[in-house]
Amino acid sequence: MLNIIILGAPGSGKGTQSELMIQAFGLEHISTGDIMRAEIKKDTELGRIAAGYINKGSLLPDELTVDMLAKALDERLHLTGIIFDGFPRTLKQAEELNRILGERNEEIDAVIELKADDEELVDRLLQRSKLSGRADDNDESTIRQRLAIYHQRTEPLVAFYKECDKHFAVDGIGAVEDVFKRIKEICQTL
Ligand code: ADP
Repeated sequence: MLNIIILGAPGSGKGTQSELMIQAFGLEHISTGDIMRAEIKKDTELGRIAAGYINKGSLLPDELTVDMLAKALDERLHLTGIIFDGFPRTLKQAEELNRILGERNEEIDAVIELKADDEELVDRLLQRSKLSGRADDNDESTIRQRLAIYHQRTEPLVAFYKECDKHFAVDGIGAVEDVFKRIKEICQTL
């Protein structure tokens, strides 16, 4: 199975590019954000806990997200490949993902980092809020808080994955299809 992480700040295009990769390469998607939003919609206990963190722009505790991820992975182990979108977001989650995959005789094949500067990301997220109605997109201070958390807690993963030669940086600025061309070139080498 091909295991690809798509890494990037909020608004960097992870969800959009994941959709294109799914169509082009027959992969499946695990988006921890989507899973949480579905739980919130169903008003489950997990959803109520998740909403408290998401609406403030904070991360959920690692334990909760790791369990959610392991469950989602076990439902998809028979597939050609998986794109991990929104997970891992902390070093602890990255270590846990290595463990979870290892226990299933799998490993990460590539980490694709979508790069864009903060001002572009803030603009994109404010635009997205008009269509998505996402509570965490509609106010600039929550967006800036999510970007700060990204820099502080998620960006260190770049060094973590560079160490094992799995990291590929992609310029996330430009038309969706141009960014996708850059990603496709990487996927074709895997
Ligand atoms: P974005 O990339 O635009 O921030 P996501 O849909 O990936 O959107 O995530 C939305 C929110 O869900 C995050 O801001 C965070 O509160 C929560 N979340 C998603 N994935 C994780 C994770 N792996 N660990 C902790 N919190 C998470």
